[in-house]
Amino acid sequence: MNLAHDVARWALSHPERPALFEGARPTATYAQWAARAAALAQHLLGAGLYPGDRVVLFMRNHPRYLEILFGVWWMGGVVVPVNAKLHPKELQWIAHNAGARWAFVSRDALPEGAPALAGLERVVDVDSPEMASLLAAEPQASLPVAARAPDDTAWLFYTSGTTGRPKGVMITHRNLRTMALGYFVDVDTVGASDAIVYAAPMSHGAGLYALPHVLAGARHVVPPSGGFDAAELFELGRQVGPLSLFAAPTIVKRLVDHAEAQGLGPADAARSFKTIVYGGAPMYAADIQRALKVMGPRFVQIYGQGESPMVGTALSRADLADQGHPQYLARLASVGRPQSSVRIRVADEAGQDVPTGEVGEVLIAGDSVMAAYWQAPEATAAALREGWLWTGDMGCLDASGYLTLKDRSKDLIISGGSNIYPREVEEVLLLHPDVAEVAVVGAPDPEWGESVVAFVVARGALALEATALDAHVVAHLARFKRPKRYVQVEGLPKNNYGKVLKTALRERLQANASGTDLGQSPP
Ligand code: AMP
Repeated sequence: MNLAHDVARWALSHPERPALFEGARPTATYAQWAARAAALAQHLLGAGLYPGDRVVLFMRNHPRYLEILFGVWWMGGVVVPVNAKLHPKELQWIAHNAGARWAFVSRDALPEGAPALAGLERVVDVDSPEMASLLAAEPQASLPVAARAPDDTAWLFYTSGTTGRPKGVMITHRNLRTMALGYFVDVDTVGASDAIVYAAPMSHGAGLYALPHVLAGARHVVPPSGGFDAAELFELGRQVGPLSLFAAPTIVKRLVDHAEAQGLGPADAARSFKTIVYGGAPMYAADIQRALKVMGPRFVQIYGQGESPMVGTALSRADLADQGHPQYLARLASVGRPQSSVRIRVADEAGQDVPTGEVGEVLIAGDSVMAAYWQAPEATAAALREGWLWTGDMGCLDASGYLTLKDRSKDLIISGGSNIYPREVEEVLLLHPDVAEVAVVGAPDPEWGESVVAFVVARGALALEATALDAHVVAHLARFKRPKRYVQVEGLPKNNYGKVLKTALRERLQANASGTDLGQSPP
């Protein structure tokens, strides 16, 4: 089993089919893609690399990303995808930890002479003539795809880790094949005339969604900006046909803001977008309702994590459209049902299932779950126990099997002995018309152990008032869950994937440098 076969097959049967695009400009057919991947594989082997060797991709979203990715797989290599926004020191740490031999970099991510990859055998600038020659085929017959076992590693992904050192997650060919096949059952159907656009980093889940689109022989579009630009995406969709994409909730929000600001409605959205898959961070019920209203029924939610990439649960287009369902609002706030290739349960610390509706840790089992953490047996033993991946996410299953995530276990607030799930408080605050974004964290409290603090971003340039927010919260939630303090900030700190860095907010509280303190809630 080698994922590179999927490109090779289309190259045989439909060589002239357009495959790769930069914006609306075709850059490769399936035959050209396969030929370039095979050529790169040949060069890598010729340079003394062996199947199983690690190769770093430190690139912004780039038209050559997929040629290089499949070229490394073609020779049996392991890709180490690194987000191009990481600091050179983080890159250095990852490349060293992975024992990488080669790296492909875009120079805007890593300027010439930066010492980060000094120990590697070769660092190739993907925009250089050297890259072009590595992708050019030798005159002799093309190299066959290397044989790989299903459990061989394909993708050594370093977890984004909002705290501590990232760990290398060993994702195998089987894991990724499972994810790709499951896409058609749990997320969306794909045909050869469809197109996926890469608006989020290809080093993460957005890039992995290339795989179902390769299986379907579809088109792959890298926007000329190399990232997210709402106006560009709307326009690109009009040019090349409705696009599918993976987007973090913050990106969905910005798309919706753009549509609203431009007076665009569901019919305009339908011309530009086929399916928008969101996940990776909480999507609040109020936000997805607005997105559905403005852009129409083109959303699907997934929940997964680096250790089971893109595969956990899915909240389908049909669920999101089923407004008459008695559980509709609860389902909007859920992450949906287990995807078809996994089983999911919610357990207490001893691994016993908790009763329906009660909160415990979310465990996942199935063929999408990582083999292990790279060279970290203790971390592996803690995360993989008796065939189950312990996700670190807290959640509960309802009687129909829908999973609602509460929070990461470390984000749980325990105040006066009661558990408070920040997400629940955040959902309520977002219903307030003046609140654009919010993050709730626990602050050390001498009396209660921890107290609830809400960081709020106002819609527009408003000054928010603690008393008004407090009145709103107590109208919806038990009093013990209400924030004791509100801090108005201009924006929330987020990592490169759009996840709010709650650790940074907790640190801000300790350093006392925290925006406009709106003060205590009234007693
Ligand atoms: P990563 O390994 O960087 O992809 O991060 C995975 C984590 O993101 C999960 O363990 C969850 O905490 C969070 N996450 C992923 N998908 C969702 C979702 N749909 N809703 C809420 N949180 C999510």
